Amino acid sequence: MKLLFICPHCDHELHIPPTYLGMKGRCNKCQGRIALIGNANERGPQRASVIEDTPPSGNGRAKLSSRQQALLEELGVSTEEAAALDKEQASALIRERISAKRHTKPATEKQIAYLKRLGAPNAQLEQVHTKEEAAQLIEEMHLQPTAAQMTYLRNLGANGVQLARLKTRGQASALIQELAGEEI
Ligand SMILES: [Zn+2]
Repeated sequence: MKLLFICPHCDHELHIPPTYLGMKGRCNKCQGRIALIGNANERGPQRASVIEDTPPSGNGRAKLSSRQQALLEELGVSTEEAAALDKEQASALIRERISAKRHTKPATEKQIAYLKRLGAPNAQLEQVHTKEEAAQLIEEMHLQPTAAQMTYLRNLGANGVQLARLKTRGQASALIQELAGEEI
């Protein structure tokens, strides 16, 4: 003894053993998802219930604007990473990345030129990549000459007057360059 169900998707007749009553499955003709909700004592055809095949989309999350998507891409966020974000999270990430970027701005040509004028050795200039590092080195060049610089200058034959005039590391480097006649 089987129950007669009608597929709500394609109207195919389905002969169902009563033990399947209340279960979910697929129509064997159209593969549409159905739930066999009905009456076990009903002899005539009864209509199976539809189960929506597509999961609820987006969970009601606001989609990213194309501007946000472009910005995220520009800021190095992968497409997969961006796809996991809603509009609000995207804005937060964009703000975060932009501010991080601001802190890692490259050293300006002006800073490098100034450092060269201060006499920063090339070896040190090569270590300077960011604006912050350049500013730090500029500050350092303004500090007192190092003991090593003074010793080196004495060895180069710098006189007392020259040494007494030195106020900064930058000036010491410049004098070393002048006396040694070499690029440092
Ligand atoms: Zn069907």
